[in-house]
Amino acid sequence: MKQPYLLLTPGPLSTTPTVKEAMQIDYCTWDSDYRNVTETIRQQILELAQADPDAYTTVLLQGSGSYGVEATIGTALPREGAVLMIAVNGAYGHRISEIADYYGIEHVDVVFNEDEAVDPAQIEAALDAHPEVTHFATVHSETTTGILNPIEQLMPLMQARGIVTIIDAMSSLGGVPISVDGLDCDYLVSSANKCVQGVPGFAFIIAKQATLEKTANNARSLCLDLYAQWQAMTKQPGKWRFTSPTHVVHAFAQALIELKAEGGVTPRYERYAANQALLSNGMQALGFDLVIDPAVQGPIITSFKYPTQHFDFADFYQFIKERGFVIYPGKVSAIPSFRIGTIGDIHTADIKRLLAIVSDYQQLNR
Ligand SMILES: *Cc1c(COP(=O)(O)O)cnc(C)c1O
Repeated sequence: MKQPYLLLTPGPLSTTPTVKEAMQIDYCTWDSDYRNVTETIRQQILELAQADPDAYTTVLLQGSGSYGVEATIGTALPREGAVLMIAVNGAYGHRISEIADYYGIEHVDVVFNEDEAVDPAQIEAALDAHPEVTHFATVHSETTTGILNPIEQLMPLMQARGIVTIIDAMSSLGGVPISVDGLDCDYLVSSANKCVQGVPGFAFIIAKQATLEKTANNARSLCLDLYAQWQAMTKQPGKWRFTSPTHVVHAFAQALIELKAEGGVTPRYERYAANQALLSNGMQALGFDLVIDPAVQGPIITSFKYPTQHFDFADFYQFIKERGFVIYPGKVSAIPSFRIGTIGDIHTADIKRLLAIVSDYQQLNR
């Protein structure tokens, strides 16, 4: 079967043929072969996130990334007496707020414009105004726009106040250097189908063991009980609580081997950043304006404004798709825009080909 196009979307993304091949074997979930694979993954995630294995643990959870975020929110916050502050500057921040609503968790949302990064000074002022806050959640790479939020500046504000911290690093872990030890955060959530370049099927949560230990009986959901999932995986090493996505787990194990072969997170970050710079400069040369300030732009995904009022995104999308690439509609509510991802098994030669296609489109529609 031939891949009809490359995905320039921020997950699922284009994976290597060898990652796809790793899914050709059927594995039994309780056999030691499989459990060893799970345990290796849990360990390697701590390594790539620069998390001390004595202080942190990795919990794997079936489902997409949002299941991981929901399990973390629903388990980290006790049923009574907890207040969550959420820094919101895009759709994924809003999703955390929606999760809090479902769980009846009291929350204070500090909302920024979608084309602005979270501002630590405003968060500090909000913390001073809300001394009742016990937990804080934010998004690292806000995939809505491609903004990279300053988690390194936000964490110390929380630690100074004894606030438990939750970071949605879904679209950055593995593609942007992150030091969990340096951040000293309590929870950091990501998933299989983003920068590690696996396929969709599970989320993973890096959790500080001392914090997670205090969360027994907090969860309001059986399947999304992060504490119970951790206990099960630890008591019987590598054993998932319920049926796990065995093929996806093998693809992920292969993706981790390939991340190491690439040289680790920093070379991958450099590849993504080179893709992003080429894309951003090339698209601007073709007359597309950026939605966000390059100072807060990350390497994952870039938003471009529609060039004219008459721009027909559906037609543009179809033209590009027929020539081998799938791009992404915009998610910024206030600005008509579209997005192009630069993560996955994507290289500058691919971006050059894309830019030539966009240029052809413009010639034809002049
Ligand atoms: C992809 C992503 C998620 C999770 O989305 P799912 O569709 O549930 O996988 C959460 N947060 C961010 C920032 C993301 O990029």
